[in-house]
Amino acid sequence: MSPVNTVSGPVEVATLGRTLMHEHLVFGYPGHEGDRTMWTYDEDAIVAAGNAALASIQAQGFSTIFEATPNDCGRNPLLLKRIAEETGFTVICATGYYREHHGGSAYFDMRSLFTDTVSELADLFITELTEGIGDTGVKAGIMKLGTGHGAISDYEHVVIKAAARAQQATGAPIITHTEGGTMGPEQARALIEAGADPSKTIVGHMCGNAHDLDYQLAVLSYGVGIGYDRTGGNRLFNDITDDDRMDTVVSLADRGYLDRIFWSQDSIATWLGRSWDGFRSLPGAEYWKITRIGDYIVPGLLERGLTDADIDQLLVGNIASLWGDR
Ligand SMILES: [Zn+2]
Repeated sequence: MSPVNTVSGPVEVATLGRTLMHEHLVFGYPGHEGDRTMWTYDEDAIVAAGNAALASIQAQGFSTIFEATPNDCGRNPLLLKRIAEETGFTVICATGYYREHHGGSAYFDMRSLFTDTVSELADLFITELTEGIGDTGVKAGIMKLGTGHGAISDYEHVVIKAAARAQQATGAPIITHTEGGTMGPEQARALIEAGADPSKTIVGHMCGNAHDLDYQLAVLSYGVGIGYDRTGGNRLFNDITDDDRMDTVVSLADRGYLDRIFWSQDSIATWLGRSWDGFRSLPGAEYWKITRIGDYIVPGLLERGLTDADIDQLLVGNIASLWGDR
């Protein structure tokens, strides 16, 4: 089995331990750079917030996170490396581009007028996975992409094709964003048609559709994993509670899909830009934090009849399976 690239260097997959597969230590929607006159970048404060977030889940037995920030949303490998070193955490960073509407789509969208952007993006992803991100010496360990609400744009199909091609070259897992849990089957089909390995692919935010068991089964029928990775978001993103999420996961486990479910929270320790405190106080945001799985989901799943071994499968074994250890 190939080693896993972390921001601190390669490690064996067996050392990852309990893992959250979609969190953010620092995230900025494209456009924050243009507002820079109105806010101050304070790296020490970002590191302190990241350290505190990881310390809070270390107490719950976690030792690894996937930092799912794509290239166009403020990804900062050296900052992540600093947080990993100060906390002793294993942090795996991403290469990829976010969905068109909320991402930095203009650059490759315009380039597509005169060049093959599938090839350009695939080259970028492969280089960052195998040689490193710029001159940081940090290699990405996973890929990240996204699609929109109820539709996948031409641009998003370009990123999907590039990621699938880069996965064929490198074996790196792909994790995704779906908007409100829509377009899950379509995204899985597009990735697989482009050559992605479903066993190394997680269609994200499927908990946004947790009330619809048939829809979950439709996505799973492609062999991909599904992300229950907006835990705690509750009404912030849609009308799904964490109890809804757990009830559906237990139903899926009963049908033999425990090994295809990936829990996380999509928490953000620091938002780049002006204060986001207003966002954090929106109705439904109160449970959206990095400790939610340890505090509420693990005990809730045990109450619903899952075993300690099942929890290990969800938070450790399923992660290892992304690198071929199934
Ligand atoms: Zn995210």
